[in-house]
Amino acid sequence: MKGAVFLDRDGTLNPDAGYISRAEDFFLFEETPLALRKLVDAGYPLVVVTNQSGVARRLFSLEELHEIHAAMEKQLAEHGVFLTAIYGCPHHPEENCRCRKPGIGMFERASKEHGIDLRGSFMVGDSLVDVQAGRAAGCQTIWIDRKYPNNKDEGEIRKLAHYTAESLMGAVDWMLKLSGRRE
Ligand SMILES: [Mg+2]
Ligand SMILES: [Zn+2]
Repeated sequence: MKGAVFLDRDGTLNPDAGYISRAEDFFLFEETPLALRKLVDAGYPLVVVTNQSGVARRLFSLEELHEIHAAMEKQLAEHGVFLTAIYGCPHHPEENCRCRKPGIGMFERASKEHGIDLRGSFMVGDSLVDVQAGRAAGCQTIWIDRKYPNNKDEGEIRKLAHYTAESLMGAVDWMLKLSGRRE
């Protein structure tokens, strides 16, 4: 069993532009490939866990979601970054599924399918649900403070997150320092 780095998608790897419904509209933050490359080089499996209720809301299909993820993987691959898995919850919040964050269904699935030790893992995200889900799954949690105006969750997030970073790169540097794998 090995630890992994779980990553939220929107607002963490790419700008959160509301519901992204077409692959052509998907762009990573400039820092993302380089930051993730450091984790890959340190030997961490990377797992994306993303709530995509736009599917249930019929804003885009499951097929279109897969196309968006293919575009994401292509952009990452250009920098030598390969993801171990991408899990997306397509359900509506009212469906009360186990996979939608703050639920931990996607974490459990990753653990089972890829032999990941959740207690030795990290969860990185820009929202309260990311920190809640990561905590519930037993991971070290890192909140990326993207400085959203009037963030009503900020107080609660700060109490719950193990670490607050100002960027994905900041989150990565903290994880590598903590795990002692930094060169
Ligand atoms: Mg997010
Ligand atoms: Zn779900």
